[in-house]
Parts: sequence; C-alpha cells; structure tokens
Amino acid sequence: MSLLSAKYSVHVEICLKPNENRLEVLEKLLDVPVRDYITLVKVPLGQSVKLDENILESNSALGDLKLVESLLVECEVKHIGEFLNEADLKHLILHFYSPQRRIMELETFDMESGDGGDGDTVPASSHWLLPSSNFLQLWENLIYEDGLKEKLLKFALSALIFSQHSVNPHIISCNRLLLLHGPPGTGKTSLCKALAQKLAIRARRTFRHTHLIEINSHSLFSKWFSESGKLVMRLFAKIREIVIDPHNLVCVLIDEVESLAYARNCMSGQEPKDAMRVVNALLTQLDAIKEHPNVLILATSNLADTIDLAFLDRADIKQYIGMPSVAAIKRIYETMLTEMMRIGIIKRQSLNEIDQHEGLLSALAERSIGLSGRNLRKLPFLAHAVHTASSDFDVDGKIDLCDFLDAMLEAIEQHHCDQKLMKS
Ligand code: ADP
Repeated sequence: MSLLSAKYSVHVEICLKPNENRLEVLEKLLDVPVRDYITLVKVPLGQSVKLDENILESNSALGDLKLVESLLVECEVKHIGEFLNEADLKHLILHFYSPQRRIMELETFDMESGDGGDGDTVPASSHWLLPSSNFLQLWENLIYEDGLKEKLLKFALSALIFSQHSVNPHIISCNRLLLLHGPPGTGKTSLCKALAQKLAIRARRTFRHTHLIEINSHSLFSKWFSESGKLVMRLFAKIREIVIDPHNLVCVLIDEVESLAYARNCMSGQEPKDAMRVVNALLTQLDAIKEHPNVLILATSNLADTIDLAFLDRADIKQYIGMPSVAAIKRIYETMLTEMMRIGIIKRQSLNEIDQHEGLLSALAERSIGLSGRNLRKLPFLAHAVHTASSDFDVDGKIDLCDFLDAMLEAIEQHHCDQKLMKS
C-alpha cells in the first residue's frame, strides 16, 4: 500500500476520456506513452492541460494517448506554472482515472418524509461516486496561500494510512475528522469536495470506489426540525451500508455543521429538546462510524464558535479558511480572464506581457480586498452585463482586455456601494 508520496514526488493525474472504463488495461497501455509525452513536452505544473494533438499525430508511439482527456502534473516542491526538469522525471507517480458521470441516489428521507419538505429547496443530502465529472478541475481552481491545500491532502492521506494500519486509538488518537471554518463564500465546501475527489484519484489502488456523501445540515435541520435526530441516524445507517465494504472509501461531508452540532452549553432552558437530541445523535453516529477504517469526515462551519465542544474535540485538524489575500485574488482574476479569453468573449492577449494591464490587474486586486472567492467569481459576469455589453446580441463580438479590466473595476466599485447601502 503506498498512499503517501515519498519526500519528493511528481504526481501525474491522467483523466481518461468519458466512457473509458477499462482502467486496468489502459493504465498498462498508457504508462510508457504518458512518461514519454511528459519528457517530450513541457507541461506546466498545477494546471489541467489537453494533450497537443499535433504531437500525437506526428509520433506514432504516442498514438494511444488519444484516449486521454487531460493531464495534471503536480509537485509540492515546485510552484504552479513551473516546468519539470530532467531530475524530476525520475520521480513520476502516475494516477489514471475515469470520471463518473452519474449522481447516486441515497434513498434517504428527501422524498419519503414528506412533512416540511417542499421538494425544490436544497436537498438534505447528496451522494456522488468519485472521481466525478462534476468536480473536474475544482482543486486547481481553488486558490489559497501556498501549501494550504497540500497540507490538507497530506493530513487526509496520513489519517487513512493510520486507519489502514489499525492504529490503537488508546495510544494514538486520530478520528479522521477535518473541520474547515471561516467566513461564508471562502470555498470551504468546494475544498472538501475537491479533497475527496483528490483522494479518489490518489488512493485508487487501495480503495476501488470512493463515495462522497454530503449532509446539508442546515437544510436537514430546518426542514425536519423535530425529526432531525432520527434522520441523522437513518442517514448514517445508509452510510454504514456503503462503509461495510472495505474497498469503498467514504467521505462524509457535513456542511454548516453548526446547524446539527450547536453548542449544548449555549442552549437556553427553552431551547427545544430536538436541538439537543440532534447533537447527541450526531456525536453517537460519528463515534460509531469511525470504527470503520475507510471513513473520512469533512465538516465545514461559518460559525465555529457556536459548535458543540464535544464535536470540536473530535476534530483532528481545525483549519481556518479566510478571505483571499491580494496574491490569491490576483490569481483568481487571472483564471477568470483566461477563461473569458478561452471562450472568446475577451480578445486573446497576454496578461503578463502587457505591463499596463499588469498594473491594472494589481489595482483591481488591491481594490478587491475583503471580497470572498464567491463574490470575486461573480464579477466578470456583472462587469460584462452592466459595464461593457451593448444592447445588441452580438455573440461574436470580442472585448478588449483593457476595456474589460476597466469594467471589472467599475463592477467592484458598484459592489462596495451596494455593500454600504445594505449596512446602512
Ligand atoms: P463556503 O463553503 O466557504 O461558503 P463555497 O465552497 O460554497 O464556500 O464557495 C463558493 C464559490 O466561491 C465556489 O464557486 C468557489 O469555487 C468560489 N471560491 C471561494 N473561495 C475561493 C478561492 N479561494 N479560490 C477560488 N474560488 C473560490
């Protein structure tokens, strides 16, 4: 079993084209061509890239690589956008995967319970088989300070190694519970999903199938208030049916955990017994499920100081996720502008080469301090809709990068004004 990377490894994640389910066969067939391709072509680190079709056409030994959708090369000792050198090529670890398209039915309470469920709100739970096509490129597009995502990945891999070795819990404590907390819109839920996807890809030799089960605590608690304790138990009973197979890795994502694990010591005398019951049910279920070595609990919270202490105590790692730094904001903008160029709404221009734009981008980033990733990601659309688009429906019209950056600046100023009005 080799889940953890050696001190210095280069991980190559190879996404096969949809419907390529002959994974074992293909990883044998494509091993050498992938290594040859990476030796021949400079692949930038940390970005999902399509293979160069001209190179595949002109090199018959690489022909089978037509079955590959994209490649992602990562190396923790190098930065995003850097290239591998000759020495790095000796450290390649290949991970082949074929993304799943279906979303599973968890057969829980969404339909059955009836009372309070209005059918069109957020479902109380969701279930995906990973790696899922829904989460492709999610990891690469979540931008944090250097090393944060890698630290979480290493934590999760270490936790799984400890549990696979049946570490004695009376000697070493490891609950396999990771809590991400911080302001809303900072990417906590997305990061948990991306982490589960990463584990599915990196730990495939140990776990044949990875399941992600998301419990939307807020929706579960508000929709089925009086029943939520029972529903938590029912949901965990379903999860146990999947966990029982040791070839399955089950990542349970408890979103906005404070809704289910509200601090019992903060509950007033009038606080409904149901709130107390649901915390007790959750803690009991978590303790029971962790007896299985193939479960990882990922929890998020916008209000960590309202979480029950017993839950907090069980978390092995409590990672604060804050608002993006200026450097992160700039990178988020770069990814969005690159996407706008790829789809052809903005004219293709180099973001780095044109110093004038570089200055504008930095000014944009400075002006965006305090905005969450969620708000940042809305800005290109707002900038386009309000500040650049004419009333013509001109699908082929391309906007100059400089004009678009000006529009983005206007959209930020508008955002700040709106925020002030909401507060006053
Ligand atoms: P949270 O769970 O913290 O409320 P979400 O995971 O729901 O946040 O994220 C909301 C959106 O904002 C997602 O589309 C996510 O991709 C984006 N986002 C948030 N933070 C970042 C970040 N640091 N880098 C890139 N995108 C981000």
